[in-house]
Amino acid sequence: MAKSSVLGYPRIGVDREWKKALEAFWAGKIEETEFQAKLQEIRLTHLRKQQEKGIDFIPVNDFSYYDHILDTAAMFGIIPKRFSYEGGPVPLSVYYGVARGTKGAAASEMTKWFNTNYHYIVPELADASPVLTENKPLTAYREAKEKLGIEGKPVIVGPLTFLKLSKGYSASETDAWLERLVPLYVQVLQELAEEGVQWVQIDEPILVTKLSQEDLQRLSSIYETITAAVPSLNIMLQTYFESVEHYNDIVKLPVKGIGLDFVHGYTGNLIAIKALGFPADKVLGAGVIDGRGIWKASLREKLELLNELTEFVSADRLIVQSSCSLLHVPVTTERETKLTTELRNALAFADEKLGELVLLTKALASDTEGIIDELVKSDAAIQALQQSEERNRVNIQQAVAALSTQQPERSHPFAERHQAQQAKWQLPIFPTTTIGSFPQSAEVRKARQSWRKGEWNNEQYAQYIRDQIDTWIDLQEEIGLDVLVHGEFERTDMVEFFGEKLAGFAFTQNGWVQSYGSRCVKPPVIFGDVAFKGEMTVEETKYAQSKTSRPVKGMLTGPITIMNWSFVRDDIPREQIAYQLAYALRQEVEALEQAGIGMIQVDEPAVREGLPLKEEEQAGYLAWAVKAFRITTCTVQETTQIHTHMCYCEFHDMIDSIEAMDADVISIETSRSHGELIHSFELNTYKLGIGLGVYDIHSPRVPSVEEMTGMIDRALRVLDARLFWINPDCGLKTRGLEETVASLRNMVEATKIARENHAATV
Ligand code: GLN
Ligand code: ZN
Repeated sequence: MAKSSVLGYPRIGVDREWKKALEAFWAGKIEETEFQAKLQEIRLTHLRKQQEKGIDFIPVNDFSYYDHILDTAAMFGIIPKRFSYEGGPVPLSVYYGVARGTKGAAASEMTKWFNTNYHYIVPELADASPVLTENKPLTAYREAKEKLGIEGKPVIVGPLTFLKLSKGYSASETDAWLERLVPLYVQVLQELAEEGVQWVQIDEPILVTKLSQEDLQRLSSIYETITAAVPSLNIMLQTYFESVEHYNDIVKLPVKGIGLDFVHGYTGNLIAIKALGFPADKVLGAGVIDGRGIWKASLREKLELLNELTEFVSADRLIVQSSCSLLHVPVTTERETKLTTELRNALAFADEKLGELVLLTKALASDTEGIIDELVKSDAAIQALQQSEERNRVNIQQAVAALSTQQPERSHPFAERHQAQQAKWQLPIFPTTTIGSFPQSAEVRKARQSWRKGEWNNEQYAQYIRDQIDTWIDLQEEIGLDVLVHGEFERTDMVEFFGEKLAGFAFTQNGWVQSYGSRCVKPPVIFGDVAFKGEMTVEETKYAQSKTSRPVKGMLTGPITIMNWSFVRDDIPREQIAYQLAYALRQEVEALEQAGIGMIQVDEPAVREGLPLKEEEQAGYLAWAVKAFRITTCTVQETTQIHTHMCYCEFHDMIDSIEAMDADVISIETSRSHGELIHSFELNTYKLGIGLGVYDIHSPRVPSVEEMTGMIDRALRVLDARLFWINPDCGLKTRGLEETVASLRNMVEATKIARENHAATV
């Protein structure tokens, strides 16, 4: 009989009690014993829930005190020297030191977990001597068994993935590192086997990316070593986020089970199984319930898929599971009392997904009528939302269909626009500007809260925002910036702000997911056709412009960023959602232009992170992402200057796409990958306006004038001085007032020097 399995469960808890406990502990508000007790209670509650729902394989050791990659590093004693760790089980002070930094030592780097919005701590292997400090999976297994009688399934990140995600070693040291790490894995697994553990889930998501022949050899030798050492242990080699590359090599590995993603890797994995079959001696973990999306599954369709799979794997060798860990979805829809019933009924967060898994597993075992009735209920809920007005905005659908077939283009090529804009604006060489936001002080946040709570009326709040704008327009003029901004004081978040003003969005009360450490985000839900309802930013921008004779840039968040930072509907392609957003935002661009705003910035910091994992899909994505940006911005007059901004990522390998967006000016973050970005401009001249961030806004440090002139000089070796702008790396929202003003003064000073030094070249 088929069984159900979960790959991981959210840590944060229904009330984000996990986050609260961590932060209370860091702030010294609770002692370690109390903290430990709290976390245990949270952990056991989560296990109990899965037990009560009837999940057969319940994950243990998926829980974490911060991040599961950091846990793995800590388990092997891989702690950078600067934290003065002295061996043995890693104390919490050291563990959190690595994650968050200490007075004397900078935190380890944090980066995105594949193509998700979860961030892990990058292990630093350099000069570490790995040893097993503590068998964490064993501790977790024992706890579940003793406290709840659960026969848990320990989850561990596999050696190849762990190594590939680590830094601080060269390619030639790969084998040496495996020789150190694999024996530790063997030791962990042996102890688990001795304890009587039946199944272990070893996560190797790296297997959905392309591996070299050498790495494939390493992969098989790792798993041969492991299975030879612990032949009695059932290993589920788990992959997710895409279909596997090298299916044929992977199914040959001597493990007991292979877990595949049939949601995000649906086509590829199904094609592989159909073409190449599935080994008769293995179990297939069929990831059919979406671990990343928030929608109910059509259980009838999922059952069909499972039945299709039984042609290749007998039902007793099938495990019905989530496509990946449920870490990426919120905990439960139960609290979402403010959503419409139609929408709420169509949602399934982690807890609801547990129910779906159990139901599907039962349905696979028997086709009694009762179960079939249950299954079709999900179709009814999906249908109801499908037929709602929100999903049937015919005018939007027609407009977007028309846009999809056109090639959006500005009325004039860049060279002509540039001339016309120069003539209109008369900007000096190396114009200075900022990215949009100014410090959101505690006072600004308090004002917003007072207004949200109804303590302040609309006029009071609007007046407060105008006062902030006044202050900052004066400051910017006094500092001597050339292109000003209004400061974004009315916005909490660059996506939420627009979502609240557009049709087609909903906001959950509790739909939190972990982003990194204790930081959780509550993404908006795009559930219907997106439509423009009315002006969103015109009032504040127009007001700011009325206070100065210098140009004020309008400030919008771009379609791709809004989409990538939201949960989106899964009934239409993402490309269509992007075009709907673009069509709505275009109307705001036009409204700004109508209101006399001559420079408009459309931020797209999240373009890069939507890049598909599969190389062969990347060009397609970039093409429609570029198109969405162009739809948003192409209808303005030639003298209207379109800006964009990008950050958070390395852009050096997508300069062509950035150029294809055809923005008159881009401001781009460079401090984190200065060398690489500059290098790519050596290879390919950038032909549009560009401002390289001359200082890193992520730290309160005030950069010196010399530092910034250095940055400018270096950039000007490869960029056209006539097209060069000077600006900070990103928005200044998180910075304090004094350091911001001081840094901007230095930036303007550095610009003056650069103007003198380079005047001859222009
Ligand atoms: N305009 C936004 C700001 O200045 C851009 C933020 C971002 O790039 N993430 O805050
Ligand atoms: Zn930015």
